[in-house]
Amino acid sequence: MIFHVLTIFPEFFEGPFAYGVVKRAKDAGLVEIRIHNLRNWTSDRHQSVDDRPFGGGEGMVLKPEPIFMAVESIWPERRPGQRVILLSAHGCLFRQAMANRLAEEAELLLVCGRDEGVDERVAEHLADEEVSIGNYVLSGGELAAAVVIDAVARLVPGVLGNETSAAFESFQDTGHGEGLLDCPHWTRPADFRGWRVPEVLISGNHAEVASWRKERARQKTRRNRPDLLGEIG
Ligand code: SAH
Repeated sequence: MIFHVLTIFPEFFEGPFAYGVVKRAKDAGLVEIRIHNLRNWTSDRHQSVDDRPFGGGEGMVLKPEPIFMAVESIWPERRPGQRVILLSAHGCLFRQAMANRLAEEAELLLVCGRDEGVDERVAEHLADEEVSIGNYVLSGGELAAAVVIDAVARLVPGVLGNETSAAFESFQDTGHGEGLLDCPHWTRPADFRGWRVPEVLISGNHAEVASWRKERARQKTRRNRPDLLGEIG
């Protein structure tokens, strides 16, 4: 799978994909991440990418021209499986279900906003969807793009060593997850400062472990995320 990122801060992305699962996926050729500098598509001497908002008000707005030109030169012809995603606080909320859906695409192009945002014509006439990573305002789309790429890349087949392991994580409604939180986990030592690992986990009884985990996942969801329980709560 190929991810493109359009940004005015290409150096920002030297960190987020250089570790762990995503790095291994890149090294194995399962995902490719191409960072594009929006300023490459400016034509004036100052390489300006933004301008003041019509109607007045604070801050600057990213202009449409460089963004349209960038997307049209990265993808001179749009093919199925190529989606433009505008990171935006006004977007649909990014959830695991959206990550699953996006992992089936061939190529994503993530457009990062800055300042007050992006000229609305990008959302209306260029992006296939607007995506928000949560109900808060970030200072730019770069962190959001890194979040989306990380969550989607690990779902690309072959990236997580064990094909089924993503099915047993929080929010997945496959496996034992039912869209709830994952069950809590423990590791050695069995006794840490007097806090013992639950006995059932060292019992060796797999069926009992499985049903106990399911119950603990429900308990934890009820406590921390009752919103996820919905009707099945
Ligand atoms: N004026 C806007 C915020 C702009 S923040 C508002 O009040 O809604 C600048 C940029 O940061 C946005 O263009 C977007 O690309 C990014 N951004 C901010 N919050 C975000 C969020 N919750 N999810 C995804 N991107 C976000």
